[in-house]
Amino acid sequence: MQKENQKLSGQTSIITGSSSGIGKAMAIALAKEGSNVVINYHSSKEEAEEVAQKISEEKGAGEAIVVKGDMSKEDDVLNLFKTTIDKFETLDVCIPNAGMQKDAAFHEMTLDDWNAVINLNLTGQFLCCREAIKEFMRRGMRPEVSKSLGKIINMSSVHDIIPWAGHANYAASKGGIQLLMKTLCQEYAHKKVRVNSIAPGAIKTDINKDNWDTKEGREKMKETIPYDRIGETEDIARVATWLASDESEYINGTTIYVDGGMTCYPGFKGNG
Ligand code: NAD
Repeated sequence: MQKENQKLSGQTSIITGSSSGIGKAMAIALAKEGSNVVINYHSSKEEAEEVAQKISEEKGAGEAIVVKGDMSKEDDVLNLFKTTIDKFETLDVCIPNAGMQKDAAFHEMTLDDWNAVINLNLTGQFLCCREAIKEFMRRGMRPEVSKSLGKIINMSSVHDIIPWAGHANYAASKGGIQLLMKTLCQEYAHKKVRVNSIAPGAIKTDINKDNWDTKEGREKMKETIPYDRIGETEDIARVATWLASDESEYINGTTIYVDGGMTCYPGFKGNG
């Protein structure tokens, strides 16, 4: 049964790439709502363990475990799901969040840089979604825990809709997430699986540190944000917690843009 003020108690969530940034904030937020969380990391074991430690100090939080794995590799994804199910018996929420950029002018982009980004940002999410849906269907409904069979939250970007010169591999990967997410909704909603995306705008993390590290960089970033502030990881974590919970039960096949209005094309304001 759900405890008061805990939207996710009795549930288990996998968040990939959660030793830092948006993934870390989501792991902490979901755990505070009572979910057990599986913190996946690629290389920074110490940071992942710090996230688990922080969760263990939160009163009423779910249990956290740490699992290493390269989310662009099928065997590592399979191991992540097996470890989760061995420990917590099943899985309720899957957030394939791990992602990277390898930027280059398109005419200079190497096949290796193209493949690295597509393999993690798109194929990695395909693998996680497939394993999550398999587990949701194996386990069956648990109405005492959630009204849905399972919830997937794909980590997209405003660049699933805004083209991004110099980042063709990244924009293509996130554009792919848009139709992967909608197709999964169309295919599995009748089984009560919910599949949605969060599309962050500019959120202060390691992925874009070079941009917000200087005052000049921050001012330039804000030119693209009508709300006039750079996003924080907690802005995303709050939406993820809500999307994972029954409060958003009837939302399916949707991308939620959490971007301070970036997708409203501020460059056109007062322009013609
Ligand atoms: P981040 O660099 O802190 O997070 C990315 C995480 O992915 C890191 O923890 C990293 O270790 C992990 N990772 C990298 N390669 C991996 C691999 N092969 N296997 C497993 N994990 C791997 O940056 P972030 O901003 O928190 O990014 C999280 C997600 O949010 C990404 O999918 C990114 O595309 C998306 N996003 C971020 C922003 C932003 O402004 N920060 C905007 C839009 C979308």
